[in-house]
Amino acid sequence: MKIKVLGCYGGNIPGHGMTAFLVNDTLAMDAGWVSGALTLKEQVKVKDILISHSHLDHTCTLPFLIDNNFSAPGFSLRIYAIADVIASMKNHLFNNHTWPDFTCLPNDLTPVLKLVDVEPEQRFEVNGLTIRAIRVSHIVPTTGFILEDKKGAIAFSSDTGPTERFWEIVNTVDRLKAVITETSFPNELQDLANVSGHLTPATLGPELDKLKKKVPVYLYGFKPKHLAKIKAQVRALKRRDLHMLVQGKTYNF
Ligand SMILES: [Zn+2]
Repeated sequence: MKIKVLGCYGGNIPGHGMTAFLVNDTLAMDAGWVSGALTLKEQVKVKDILISHSHLDHTCTLPFLIDNNFSAPGFSLRIYAIADVIASMKNHLFNNHTWPDFTCLPNDLTPVLKLVDVEPEQRFEVNGLTIRAIRVSHIVPTTGFILEDKKGAIAFSSDTGPTERFWEIVNTVDRLKAVITETSFPNELQDLANVSGHLTPATLGPELDKLKKKVPVYLYGFKPKHLAKIKAQVRALKRRDLHMLVQGKTYNF
């Protein structure tokens, strides 16, 4: 499985895109920085998108990805998310106020956008990958995703504070190759992390103790303003095989 980091930050300043990953060139996992990172030629290859939750730092380039490619021959996009997240996108994003409702455009019969409800923990298939959405503990309904192919699997927690079910399921995944989880704030902002459903290095440590598989862990979600502090505090955890994701880098699992 090839995963390119399009953006791995929990905020946006020049050179720092928000959460989005490109899997095997055609599937995006979250869309905080898809149109910001890919050329038009690359964007048109993206046919399927997993959305973990409704927050803008995971969805804000969806409108432009669709708008950029609306007239490209054969362009269409399927978005997969749990029902709560689909409802939020219908009501607050593609609602004909914030942005056109592309689920009815250019017409009802052949719309460019399809919103696909997925059931938590039920497997579904996209482009040779078997995928499961697993609920995590954030302030809005949110799932991580487990992606499996014939060679291996990766688990992405998305935004979460301390959580249980995600780790329980991750520990049962055969051929797990890596986990991607978040660290948004430095330890000094623990109260803010707690109320907003995020992790700091201090709460990341106990989360990693729940992972029983010996696989590398990659972090994303850093608030750009606090990047240096988060980096130092992650390093101070002194955990083997714990890495901060690098924007623009492609990882092969
Ligand atoms: Zn969030």
